[in-house]
Amino acid sequence: MTLKSEKNGYVYLIGAGPGDPGLITLKGRECIGRADVILYDYLAHKELLSFARPDAELIYAGKVGGAHNREQWQINEMLVEKAQQGLVVARLKGGDPFIFGRGGEECEALVTAGIPFEVVPGVTAAVGAAAYAGIPLTHRDFTTSVSFVTGHESSSKEVSGIDWGQLSLGNGTLVFYMGMKNLPQIAANLIVHGRSSQTPVALVRWGTRPEQDVLTGTLADIADKAHKEGFKAPAVIIVGEVVRLRDKLRWFDTRPLFGKRILVTRATDQAGVFSRLLGGYGAQVLECPTIVVTPPESFEDLDQALRALEGYDWLIFTSANGVQFFFKRLAELGLDSRALGSCRVAAVGSKTGESLAGHGIRADLLPSSYHAEGVVAKFAEKDVAGQKALYPKADRVRDVILKGLAGLGMEVVAPVAYRTALPDSFSAETLAALEDRRIDCITFTSSSTVTNLATLLGENRLIHLLQGVAVASIGPITSATCRELGLRVDMEPEKSTVEALAEEIVAYYSAR
Ligand code: SAH
Repeated sequence: MTLKSEKNGYVYLIGAGPGDPGLITLKGRECIGRADVILYDYLAHKELLSFARPDAELIYAGKVGGAHNREQWQINEMLVEKAQQGLVVARLKGGDPFIFGRGGEECEALVTAGIPFEVVPGVTAAVGAAAYAGIPLTHRDFTTSVSFVTGHESSSKEVSGIDWGQLSLGNGTLVFYMGMKNLPQIAANLIVHGRSSQTPVALVRWGTRPEQDVLTGTLADIADKAHKEGFKAPAVIIVGEVVRLRDKLRWFDTRPLFGKRILVTRATDQAGVFSRLLGGYGAQVLECPTIVVTPPESFEDLDQALRALEGYDWLIFTSANGVQFFFKRLAELGLDSRALGSCRVAAVGSKTGESLAGHGIRADLLPSSYHAEGVVAKFAEKDVAGQKALYPKADRVRDVILKGLAGLGMEVVAPVAYRTALPDSFSAETLAALEDRRIDCITFTSSSTVTNLATLLGENRLIHLLQGVAVASIGPITSATCRELGLRVDMEPEKSTVEALAEEIVAYYSAR
């Protein structure tokens, strides 16, 4: 829905926050979702683009931090042009638009062109990086003020625009942006103008991101340390006694999986929950889908069963996908969950049960075992001979349930409700990470994630690329598939859920 005010073109200047995509404001996120065009910066997290409308035009505006005037000028021009075409433009900038973001200049251009705009503030790098490094920028025991300073000023500039005397006085916390190149001069200037050379300093690179890196020292030694470690931009330089608090207050880079790069191989639509879990423990997660889920080639069999649901005694689901496709098709036929009538429902796995609950249905039978054998065992406890079961399934599944239930005298109808297939290609980013040995751990959440990966990469290449990579498997069947392909399994939880798998990974790395 377009707002009345947006009708003739409108610009939202949005602060994307310092890195962690969760740090954007609710308003910023909403504005991204409204936009026809999104102009985004180098420092704005790419994940925020997922809030954009699927038809929105995405334009990369380049590295504005190091931009020349002409580039900035071109960006201004593009903002004006797009808005004059009557479009809603989201200008997505790292951190806060008005803190060293040249947002002021962009607004001036909009005012000159008579284009209406709004500014949506963001968490600026100093604030984000300090919080995630465990450094309170002010603390009444240490300092009463904080200054944000540009460190970009050329050292050859004859008269510095920075009042070094003023900055060096007292105990105010200082945060320098864009200062890594000039770090030696910055430290020297502060010492020359009266700050103690023993004043603590922290460099925070890629603050708030899983790859955050912090280096601490003093004004006297930080430049040498940074040089030795090859510590590079983008980083903020935090100067002041408050830096001492980090030892006590750091929390972000002490989480159990911090610094670990973990590959998640699930189907894209299912990867989210697991990735967030691992991310919550501090891991850097790379998603590499090995399965795409698609509708069946023909709905004929499924439709026939759906129209005659009242004739079934049991409805069996073994995956959340099965549940989703079942109900989607039911709705497409103009039916709803009342069509289930007195049919009893069995669900394998807690996710399947949760998915059913989302449709208002509580499973009558929830086998505690997570594989097909467990379902059959559970049915064997009942007197089911002569009963009829509907089992909407994936195209390629083991026929354990079918055979097992038939063995109990049940009549089982198993139409294909969805198909699983190989993705067309393998992510180039993931392949590069594997080749450069940058992955610590790979996770497999079903046998097909293993076999599909082997198909995508080739078996020999799979083994070669996974040398030295810890393998985490969700359960015994998946582990067996790994071993058949020549992989060693390092982690397998007792319970086959992604939650238990995440905890197993935490335990594995905590023990090391
Ligand atoms: N408008 C932005 C700043 C842009 S200037 C903001 O409000 O944060 C670019 C500088 O910001 C970089 O050189 C670096 O000093 C700092 N910066 C941006 N993101 C950062 C991050 N995640 N961690 C550390 N420094 C960051």
